[in-house]
Amino acid sequence: LVCIRHVSKQFANGTLAVRDVNLDLGTGEFISLLGPSGCGKSTLLRMVAGLGTPSTGTIDWPTTNHDASGKPQRDLGFVFQDPTLMPWASALANVMMPLVLKHVPRREAEARAVEMLALVGLKGFETSYPRELSGGMKMRVSIARALVMKPKILLMDEPFAALDEITRHRLNDDLLELWWREKFTAVFVTHSVFESVYLSKRIVVMAARPGRVMADLDVDAPYPRDDLFRTSSDYAH
Ligand code: ATP
Ligand code: MG
Repeated sequence: LVCIRHVSKQFANGTLAVRDVNLDLGTGEFISLLGPSGCGKSTLLRMVAGLGTPSTGTIDWPTTNHDASGKPQRDLGFVFQDPTLMPWASALANVMMPLVLKHVPRREAEARAVEMLALVGLKGFETSYPRELSGGMKMRVSIARALVMKPKILLMDEPFAALDEITRHRLNDDLLELWWREKFTAVFVTHSVFESVYLSKRIVVMAARPGRVMADLDVDAPYPRDDLFRTSSDYAH
């Protein structure tokens, strides 16, 4: 789905954040990107999203979408570490925002946003404002917002880092279920070895300096969810 070839990133100040990364992100995979602080995970994820260009190397996307001006667009959703919700808008309006920007008719946009909120477990919270929601609920809203355009790929940058362990565990379960149902490709950045092993069959490990991929592991689904995956080979779409 996405081919990353010899990608390096050197910032203007000279910091070499990512060095010679080669990765293929396959359709339907759930990939965890694991590594210590400062190893270049966010820098790499941002480049995959097109929010920054590699200094050298290429990131190939099959460009399936075109915007109003005919420019090809990467078909993705991005979940940032701190949920960046619009504080003045309801949960529903936040989730509708990408649809409104794409000029989707209002009634259709609203219906799709309502459905998306229900999928992330927030039925009944449509009219709540971000300040009335807990951290975990805000994270659910931003996942709903990232998925409302039905992207092929969902990039998540330490989405649950700020949450308590119980909420985090619950969100891990719900995310797995959502991935299983909606069939997007997931790339999940985390510091947590447990989280990566719990969520994904494939774990890409990066090392602190110099921002390189040290291992690309098939962990063979050690914690299968019986209700979702009967065998570890079910752990792919
Ligand atoms: P964390 O787990 O703490 O989020 P990370 O793996 O996401 O860390 P990055 O944010 O990708 O790490 O940063 C990698 C390196 O690049 C760090 O040394 C950081 O200081 C540097 N860096 C990141 N963004 C910039 C920037 N805009 N300009 C200069 N250096 C940067
Ligand atoms: Mg980061």
